[in-house]
Amino acid sequence: MADVENLTDLFIHKLRRVYDAEKRLIKALPALHDAASSPDLKAAFQTHLEETEAQLDRLDRVFGLFNEKPDADTFHAIKGAIKDGEDAVTLDAEAAVKDAALIAAAQDAEHIEIASYGTLRTWAVALKKVEAVHALEWTVEEEKATDKRLTEIAKTLNYRAAEAPKEA
Ligand code: FE
Ligand code: FE
Repeated sequence: MADVENLTDLFIHKLRRVYDAEKRLIKALPALHDAASSPDLKAAFQTHLEETEAQLDRLDRVFGLFNEKPDADTFHAIKGAIKDGEDAVTLDAEAAVKDAALIAAAQDAEHIEIASYGTLRTWAVALKKVEAVHALEWTVEEEKATDKRLTEIAKTLNYRAAEAPKEA
């Protein structure tokens, strides 16, 4: 973080990481969608892919509000959650168990996003960037709603997963 001297620098530094996260998630979500068995889960991944594309556009706007060009810096935590998602995609398990693994990885990603966007929103408040606050607030609410929706889906699916036959 050699280039960070003030809160605006720190904000941009983190903004580049969430930009990286959204770009990676846009690439990763179609595979999660295709691997899901539950129609509800498929629909949730599809909706969130569309939301994620809009979130990336929203970030473009936030960069503009700070007179910065959109740029991505590797967000290692999201990379890890996506790797777990890829592992879930290749899982050779009963459908409900595989769906449970997909949900777990997706919720890790959502929690990381909720934390990061919450931080960015709070910093934008301190920096008195009202438009940026609204854009970030919008996204944080979408991430929270997605997390909640996944929890609801998991509640049903986990009972099925628990009944999956154990290996002899
Ligand atoms: Fe997102
Ligand atoms: Fe998300």
